Amino acid sequence: MHPTIAIAFTAGLCVFGASYFAPGIFQPLKAAPEPTPTATPVKPVVTLPIAEALSPNVDARPVGTLIDAIVIHDTETPGISEARTIANHFGNPRSQVSAHYIIGKRGEVLQCVPDDLRAWHAGPSKYQGREKVNDFSIGIELVNAQTGRDPFTDAQYQSLILLTTELVARHGIPLERIIGHREITNFPKIKRDPADNFDWNRYKMGVRLMLDTKQVQRVPAPTPSGWPVRAVSPKP
Ligand SMILES: [Zn+2]
Repeated sequence: MHPTIAIAFTAGLCVFGASYFAPGIFQPLKAAPEPTPTATPVKPVVTLPIAEALSPNVDARPVGTLIDAIVIHDTETPGISEARTIANHFGNPRSQVSAHYIIGKRGEVLQCVPDDLRAWHAGPSKYQGREKVNDFSIGIELVNAQTGRDPFTDAQYQSLILLTTELVARHGIPLERIIGHREITNFPKIKRDPADNFDWNRYKMGVRLMLDTKQVQRVPAPTPSGWPVRAVSPKP
């Protein structure tokens, strides 16, 4: 046993101490080994074609508002299968409704409102004590009759999973903040979407898997002739 006197200066304080240490406990300082560079694996890219059918039923989000929720709707439109039909409704200024995206039965995705603008999809609503969910959310409409028997198609789930994955990655939206309209509306007896047969497990598990394994890149899809394409004109 050898006596050792240690003097340490720490944060301007002088600390004096004497103690005994076993021989060999002091090792020459060695430089920390260089960390081995580990290449971040590049995830394969999956593309999602999105066509535009812009709605005039939009306005600005409140200044400084972060987009941190996604609201899933269905359209409650028996007999309708195409996103463009719903886009026609959103394209009518008198309808006073819109959503950021519509996904038709064939999985076709239309964007009606740019993400940074406020779409009019949630109506009077509250989520976790916060009113006006339109302010901070993105609205996605799935074309469906809302009978509980009209199936959400495989193509719709596929496009919804890809679109959600891209939005979550783009805006940093937590998965638990992907919610149904029925959960946030002030009129839950009237607004029952998405319908009971919407498979939340399939949807959320699909998004988790996609986030882990792939990166989704949106690509512009051609707008078929006859589709409504209107300039965005925010409400005065
Ligand atoms: Zn809704």
